[in-house]
Amino acid sequence: MTEQPARRLLLVHAHPDDESINNGVTMARYAAEGAHVTLVTCTLGERGEVIPPELAHLTGAALGGHRRDELAAAMRALGVDDVRLLGGPGRFADSGMMGLPDNEDPGCLWQADVDRAAELLVDVIREVRPQVLVTYDPDGGYGHPDHIQAHRIAMRAVELADEAGCPVAKVYWNRVPRTVAEDAFARLGEALPGLPFDEAAGVEDVPGVVADELITTEIRGDASARAAKAAAMRAHATQITVAEPYFVLSNALAQPLFTTEYYELVRGERAGDADARESDLFAGIEIEEAS
Ligand SMILES: [Zn+2]
Repeated sequence: MTEQPARRLLLVHAHPDDESINNGVTMARYAAEGAHVTLVTCTLGERGEVIPPELAHLTGAALGGHRRDELAAAMRALGVDDVRLLGGPGRFADSGMMGLPDNEDPGCLWQADVDRAAELLVDVIREVRPQVLVTYDPDGGYGHPDHIQAHRIAMRAVELADEAGCPVAKVYWNRVPRTVAEDAFARLGEALPGLPFDEAAGVEDVPGVVADELITTEIRGDASARAAKAAAMRAHATQITVAEPYFVLSNALAQPLFTTEYYELVRGERAGDADARESDLFAGIEIEEAS
């Protein structure tokens, strides 16, 4: 039997770049601590908008291939070596923004049968046996069809894996506490004249913002995890421009780069006091240490 790290974390995302923006610190921290970190990305993001003019010629499959390379570079920055594309590269196409005709593409993730796509993820769960799974909330954080679908696939896969005798102990959704977002945007407003960006986004542009009371868990990284997150985001150069502690997406609106990452536990037992946030996704889980 091959030796497997005792702690195993699985993250399910829609496009290359989502993992670094949402979970870069978390992934870098657990990888550095020797946990097994597995990323499953559902599409190559080949309908994303490209920021750098010199790469603007990349569209469709060429953009997908390029973003796959960006993802690989980001994972090197985070120290994560188990990266998979759901069903293999190109199995599910990027669905484009909600309401576009792209959503009707029969090969896109939005059109995928959730149960069948979930079975592909169950295969990964059965192989890796993660104790913890991280994904988006039911709205996908901000309503993008691929993010909504990634959520549905991940949650269905957890159910199916449970039925197959391979339970995932804890499931978390990516979150940002409202007061943290509001404070960060207030600082951004003051810093904006000195930044290489012209305009700021707003709290409503940040995926997963919820009332502070819903947050169960916060993951802080040390300096090297924070640096790894910024480096991973920079690796997604077609999608992100970073000027720490801020960044922009293709809409060119500045937003905070969060170096503490927040979660809402939606399945499993919350560890510790109900009024204190967990500081470890694996808290309370019995871990069998390899002998
Ligand atoms: Zn995305």
